Amino acid sequence: MNSKERVLTVLKGGVPDRVPFAPNIGQWFSYHKHSGTLPPELEGCEDELDAMLRMETDIFSRRLGPFFAQSIPGVEMHRYYVPMDGGPRAEVKPPASTPFGHEEPHPPNVWVVTEVVTPLGTLRNRARFTSASFTTFEEEHFVKDFERDYPALRYIVENTSYAFDPEKYRQVEERLGDQGVAFVPMAQSPIKLLHIWGGQVDGTLFLVDYEKECRDLFEIHTANVVDMAQQAAQCDALAFSLGDNLDSLFYSPPLFRTYEIEFHQEIADILHGADKLLFSHACGRLWSLRELIAEAGLDGMEGIPHPPLGDLPLDEAKNIHDGFIVNGGMTAHEQEITDDPERGIRAYVRDLFDGMRPFDRFFFSSGCNTSIRTPWENLLIFEEACHEFGSS
Ligand SMILES: [Zn+2]
Repeated sequence: MNSKERVLTVLKGGVPDRVPFAPNIGQWFSYHKHSGTLPPELEGCEDELDAMLRMETDIFSRRLGPFFAQSIPGVEMHRYYVPMDGGPRAEVKPPASTPFGHEEPHPPNVWVVTEVVTPLGTLRNRARFTSASFTTFEEEHFVKDFERDYPALRYIVENTSYAFDPEKYRQVEERLGDQGVAFVPMAQSPIKLLHIWGGQVDGTLFLVDYEKECRDLFEIHTANVVDMAQQAAQCDALAFSLGDNLDSLFYSPPLFRTYEIEFHQEIADILHGADKLLFSHACGRLWSLRELIAEAGLDGMEGIPHPPLGDLPLDEAKNIHDGFIVNGGMTAHEQEITDDPERGIRAYVRDLFDGMRPFDRFFFSSGCNTSIRTPWENLLIFEEACHEFGSS
């Protein structure tokens, strides 16, 4: 089996010749690329796909897009760097789309200010890029005063549309060749829409204080994502992932039941009607959501963090429903082992894999991502252990 056949076998519910080794190395790669600390084996790799091709992993990644182009007529975006110690702001290239994925690194000691200008008001956020973790942290969210900012937010959601770009998808598939499958990222669920614009805490409070306005917004947003799913149903790709960060801390079971179930079912029905698969990104605790995840029609979760980072062991995740596909297995607490990693990682992988037999519906992947503190040697140990213990 080549890597592409292996990935497709798992996606179609079969038992592959061995467990696919499909880590998400994006953040790890970007950090080391920009710090000049890539291992010699990855010298010259321009992006994470280059690195995965060089490593000969079994590629199943949601980070090869975006394949849906977003347009919001009537809305302008601007971005500025504002020195933290004062001084004039400098305008820089704005992000290509909102919500903002695939962030570029920013310089240290500046506030990254993004403005979204609509005829009904301007929304502005303020973030800080931390090179030590290679992540952007939001200090101030776009929507701060719901009553003041709602018209602009609603204008943005009402005027947003997405168009699948078949040429971009074809180019990525061509680069992948026999080494894997591109996982197509989609927009996010309603609750995540509020998290993006208002943050997780205020976003949750908006739902309580302004339920009617939030429901109106969700209805418009759902229509956008339904349109996206209809395009997805007609394209060549097989697997799609919602851009959520599913975690019961911010998607409590009652909130999920009230605002998320019908949305997921509607999107899943459209994709299932065309024999496509719907995933979502897991980013925390899932134990109390597992029955709702099944009811929502999700075919799998990507990047599941297992305990103690999450609370759902991977063998239990496999029981969410008969066809449920599990993607996860490597989280920071194994990635960063420095005390005899050969022994620790191999023992971990052997035990994990024992519980995952017969190896249908399982991708050995990263729980969320690969920590930037993961030694290169550990990635190689994971890969070798997957090859050794993952044979069917
Ligand atoms: Zn995550």
